[in-house]
Amino acid sequence: MKLERWGWYSVGVSALLAALHGLIALASGSLAVTAELVHNLVDLMGAATVLTGLKLAVRRTKAFPYGLYKAENLAAAAIAGLIFLTAYEIASNALFAPSAPVRSDPWMLALLIATAAIPLAFSHFELRAGRAANSPVLVADAREYRVHVLTTGLALAALASERFALPLDRVAALLIVLAVVKTGWDLLADAMRVLLDASLPSETLLRIRAVIGAEPAVAEVKWVTGRNAGRFRFVEAGVALRIAELDKAAKLVHRIEAEVRKAVPHVERVLAHIEAPASPHVRYAAPLADPAGAVSAHFGEAPYFALVAVGREDGAWAESRVVANPHATVQRAKGIRVAEWLVRQKVDVVLTREDLRGKGPVYVLRDAGVELRLTDKHSLAEALAAARDS
Ligand SMILES: [Zn+2]
Repeated sequence: MKLERWGWYSVGVSALLAALHGLIALASGSLAVTAELVHNLVDLMGAATVLTGLKLAVRRTKAFPYGLYKAENLAAAAIAGLIFLTAYEIASNALFAPSAPVRSDPWMLALLIATAAIPLAFSHFELRAGRAANSPVLVADAREYRVHVLTTGLALAALASERFALPLDRVAALLIVLAVVKTGWDLLADAMRVLLDASLPSETLLRIRAVIGAEPAVAEVKWVTGRNAGRFRFVEAGVALRIAELDKAAKLVHRIEAEVRKAVPHVERVLAHIEAPASPHVRYAAPLADPAGAVSAHFGEAPYFALVAVGREDGAWAESRVVANPHATVQRAKGIRVAEWLVRQKVDVVLTREDLRGKGPVYVLRDAGVELRLTDKHSLAEALAAARDS
């Protein structure tokens, strides 16, 4: 994996710089070079965290079924704490420690020039690779290495100034510590955002919404949320579908996941909640004693049924039909057959005057998600108006 290879390169460069700065710090006693050494160690820990995060994230166990994605962020927060502690140590040395002599030999200066050139060259190649792979992690790492030209340059200037008896070492050390603290602060802020499940940026959520909405079978995208865990993104969306068949819906959900992954990098999981589409109408059914609209006192024996679609907003009758009960004359299980027939008519609510509690039709309607409501009204119009008000 490309990202992992560059992670190792970054570890190698930071380790090399830390070794060289450690050597110069020991030989010179310069506080500025020591600060730069700490800077390298901080980078080394950061790069190592990225690498272990890559490996840990995909490991799922019974005790951690959601993966250890956030282990990386937890480590980053711990490293930030370590950075602040070290920064405090160096800063208090620079400010309050009794002055000690600093050695400044030509070989140290030459080596410092080299340690400023190495990260500059590495940053150039890493930035090119990062842009080619469209990896924000690589690009950020490359930009960070550019800062080294400045901080190592400060250490170099401090050590060179000693040759002219200018005591700039402590000032340079403080400036480098500032750069290190900035790195630690960014690290901590990012880690806390992820650990506390901050939302994905709104433009990312809008892009995901557009991708899901582009599916022809999606009637409406009701909501989209998303969070980071480690470098990965987890997305949840509520969608209303135009299809009712479960197998088709399952396929669609998989297609949505694939499309979102394609459009947005680092998406690890997409959870689609299927929500009922909000129809503009409520479809009522009521047994009638005559086609004119008298509500029957019976259910299964009623000669007619009214099927009325009522506007959810305005209560207007968008469509109304009176249909002869197709099962009025059968002998057995009349009520159940009528209930099954009403389910096939896709009604939402059935109004009856007959109390059907404990009888077959109740179970048929309930299994199909159809609501059964008792009414005491004798005309269809009154029964519908009452049902709407309740
Ligand atoms: Zn750095």
